[in-house]
Amino acid sequence: MTHLCLPTDLQAQILKDCVRRYPEEACGLLIGSSDGQVTDIVLSPNLSDEPERNFEIDPALIIAQQKHGRSGQTKNQTKILGHFHSHPDGSAQPSARDQAQNYDSDLIWLIVQVTDGVAQEIAAFATEEKTGQLTAIAMYKS
Ligand SMILES: [Zn+2]
Repeated sequence: MTHLCLPTDLQAQILKDCVRRYPEEACGLLIGSSDGQVTDIVLSPNLSDEPERNFEIDPALIIAQQKHGRSGQTKNQTKILGHFHSHPDGSAQPSARDQAQNYDSDLIWLIVQVTDGVAQEIAAFATEEKTGQLTAIAMYKS
């Protein structure tokens, strides 16, 4: 995927959650269609043992979404497009740990920089096929 379209209201929800959970990392799922349009988000508890430095999305939420996607009830098929997490007092760039934990090359990563409890930058990344590294992709508001 080369770009992500994130509606303003969903972006606002993400930023709010990242600020609320500062100084811990916030995290959640991005739900949408395969053309990169985000249609919903699912906030997740951060299950990491070190929530100030790392994140772990609740696997039960992922399974629930995958089941929902397979049920075929919705006319416009949506799926897990990717996930978001915050970097408290870090940058809106994938950390070395993020790069190492990037197991699923189909997922989009959204990273929110929160500095002193205030949301700063938000940026989207996808896995580059050649290098396997998370690289920045365009993000549009919709
Ligand atoms: Zn990170």
